[in-house]
Amino acid sequence: MTSDRIWQPLVEELARWQRAGRKAEFWLRDDDTVEPTPALDRLLALTGEFAIPVTLAVIPAMTGRKLAVRLDEAPHATVAIHGWAHRNHAPEDQKKQELGAYRPREAVLGDLARGLSHVTGLHGARAVPMLVPPWNRIDAGLVSDLGSIGFVALSVYGPPKPASLAVINSNVDVMDWHGTRGCRDHGLLVQEIVAQLQHAFEGGEPVGLLTHHLVHDESAWLFLERLFTLTARTEACAWLAIRTLIGRSAGRGK
Ligand SMILES: [Zn+2]
Repeated sequence: MTSDRIWQPLVEELARWQRAGRKAEFWLRDDDTVEPTPALDRLLALTGEFAIPVTLAVIPAMTGRKLAVRLDEAPHATVAIHGWAHRNHAPEDQKKQELGAYRPREAVLGDLARGLSHVTGLHGARAVPMLVPPWNRIDAGLVSDLGSIGFVALSVYGPPKPASLAVINSNVDVMDWHGTRGCRDHGLLVQEIVAQLQHAFEGGEPVGLLTHHLVHDESAWLFLERLFTLTARTEACAWLAIRTLIGRSAGRGK
């Protein structure tokens, strides 16, 4: 089948990790959760079936008790703080940004502190004090203040930049935001995962898979199911909880 051929590079890469007696590491971040929905049920069922820890980036201003009750049934889920209201404050001709330099820093930091407190109040130990900026963007000048309002980690997209707190970035986005707005080509995603694993083999960051369950088409769900099936088949793979990654980062004194 063509589909098998598409996945073959990942099978081979994982075999290399296996021969080296190492584990290829993955983690999963899913953005924009607000409340229980059929799509969230599907995500939690799929990740639960494969025992994959999932970090849900929750939008504080829009969420409430219902989500907390639903997640009580999903011990493999943790929640992170997805900005405050996922509201764009950038001018029309600029990239969308909630946490930019377009408002006084006190206002932005105030929103973030409120978001952390709200989500932690709802979720208790399930909440991890990690900021996931909407659109993966935050003004660089704000990052050094995140620790002072209670955050221990930041997660955006791409290679991490040095910061005063742990930076645990996503690096493989399944969605084609600028084209079909559905799942990206499976073969290209496999190539990206393999490239990230090759980087990780030399000491780089784990594969940080980024999903958005509310807008997944069938192709996106199918991609996840295939990836989870393949990675479950080998001892050479581990899906890590976000707390493990943050703890490790703290251990390095960053
Ligand atoms: Zn978002």
